[in-house]
Amino acid sequence: MTAARATWSVLDTAFGDGSQFTACWHQWRNDPQRAAMLHYVGIQSATDRYPWPAEVARFCQDLGSGFHRILLDDGQVSLTLCIGPLQSMLAEQALQADTVLFDGSDAAWDKWALKALAKLCRRGTLLRASTPGTLPAALLEDAGFCLNTPAEPQAPTEYRYDPRWNLMHSRKSHGSATVSRCAVIGAGMAGASVAHVLALRGWAVSVLDACAEPAGGASGLPVGLVVPHVSVDDSPRSRMSRNGTRLMLLHAQRLLVEGLDWGHTGVMERRGAPEGDLWHPMAGWIKPGRLVQEWLRHPAIAFVGNAPVRQLTQNEGVWTLHGDQGQLLAQAEHVVFANAYGCRELLHSMASTVELEGDVLAKSDTWQELHGLLSYGMCPADPQRAANGMWPTGPVNGDGSFVPNIHTLQGLLWFAGSTFETQTAQVADIAEQHRANHARLASLLPEVGAALAPDFAAGTVQAWSATRCATHDRLPLVGPLQTNATPSLWINAGMGSRGLSFSALCAELLASQMHGEPLPVEAQLARGLDSMRARRQRRTTTETQTF
Ligand SMILES: Cc1cc2nc3c(=O)[nH]c(=O)nc-3n(C[C@H](O)[C@H](O)[C@H](O)COP(=O)(O)OP(=O)(O)OC[C@H]3O[C@@H](n4cnc5c(N)ncnc54)[C@H](O)[C@@H]3O)c2cc1C
Repeated sequence: MTAARATWSVLDTAFGDGSQFTACWHQWRNDPQRAAMLHYVGIQSATDRYPWPAEVARFCQDLGSGFHRILLDDGQVSLTLCIGPLQSMLAEQALQADTVLFDGSDAAWDKWALKALAKLCRRGTLLRASTPGTLPAALLEDAGFCLNTPAEPQAPTEYRYDPRWNLMHSRKSHGSATVSRCAVIGAGMAGASVAHVLALRGWAVSVLDACAEPAGGASGLPVGLVVPHVSVDDSPRSRMSRNGTRLMLLHAQRLLVEGLDWGHTGVMERRGAPEGDLWHPMAGWIKPGRLVQEWLRHPAIAFVGNAPVRQLTQNEGVWTLHGDQGQLLAQAEHVVFANAYGCRELLHSMASTVELEGDVLAKSDTWQELHGLLSYGMCPADPQRAANGMWPTGPVNGDGSFVPNIHTLQGLLWFAGSTFETQTAQVADIAEQHRANHARLASLLPEVGAALAPDFAAGTVQAWSATRCATHDRLPLVGPLQTNATPSLWINAGMGSRGLSFSALCAELLASQMHGEPLPVEAQLARGLDSMRARRQRRTTTETQTF
């Protein structure tokens, strides 16, 4: 079905119980000519249920309305379930389907719905009737679909998208990057996740970092929480973090050792009165550095350490990345900026030679560096006794966070964090930052705060610190950096204090934009993350910082 392509995209307008997906997945597995990636987009009503394969079942129960990206077969099969009414789910897509599985019995098919469907097709897309019965033949033909002569009398009815009119240029060139070489600047979560998804699609990827080893920046965090953000209006940040958390836990399950590198423990969020506590079952903790290592462990990825990129030049479609002394570090057809706050300087250095998307430089000037310190120490020998029976079994967050009982080479550790300081030039001294973390802990979990007070007082508590890169609206920046039809510079940065929830989903989003693959999030949400998003006022609300 797929003839040696980077990706093959199927749009199923009536996912139902997923039986067509299962059949297509098996067909893809058995196809020696298969594309590197199978994308299957299923539009599903809220009441349908798919019998999830055991390896992902625990992360896929009770999916709410909207888009959900689930990765199967080591990340090479991507299922995007879009739960909601047919017409609104079609309107939120931005793909060029190779095959459409069409349920003509749905009463929602009218002229407008078919036009919306046609926009998701390229010339030559096959449309197969997935249910027997009457197809809206006249409407299909009006929308640009032509009936294929069946090869055999019993063959299902098939149409081909081949309109009499010319297709708009923008549609033809949408996300048309061909698989080649990509240089990724930055080997934190943002860079490693992008490198991983591109390698899965057949790219040769060089990942360059100023540090000697991967995860030398904020992603070197010893342990962090992966937990959804909740807001009354279900803001883009909340939707991104909810779907991103699920995807991140799927990556962790596939690549890491549970109990040692990550834990699907759930997280208790303390919100105080009047809201009360909120239990997040789809949440846990991860050692991000371990995940970065695993993401980079792919034969098509080469990591280059001690390689601060200072300048980019382009010649005949190939970018050259130069180091401190102007030396050549890497060459590639595409470059992804995933170097957090370091993007700013590099983008400014290119401004006179490369035409960047209009607002991106100005926007990068509003980014903030947020210094943070995490306090940690050895768990007491008998933690329940030390904390009067109130030592938690899993992570707790709220104003600050506490992660107990993490196995490390040093022994069983607890982690309490984290400080937020905007004045990175005048960061408080370490003792002061420990005091701030202890005060938060004492308010979050008073008995634990009391149990650990002697450690804080004795100065035996250890510190890990780094700088987060936050954008003006606290949403990551993901997408092309150039406005032309064939961009070759891309960005994936600005993860703020949510890199563990955002990075895997942002990497999927960037890959989808590069290839014209199905989006992992609603188109409207994707537009809210790209470098052309309308400049919004920085939020002045006192949104609770939870790390
Ligand atoms: C104290 C603290 C606690 C946190 N807790 C949590 C948490 O519990 N949950 C959560 O989700 N998030 C948490 N975060 C945030 C999370 O760590 C970040 O969102 C995430 O690590 C950002 O990843 P990144 O890849 O964008 O940036 P980084 O990991 O900082 O990676 C950027 C990389 O780019 C490299 N670089 C920069 N410039 C150049 C250049 N010119 N050339 C080459 N390389 C370059 C740097 O060396 C660095 O390795 C916390 C952060 C801190 C500081």
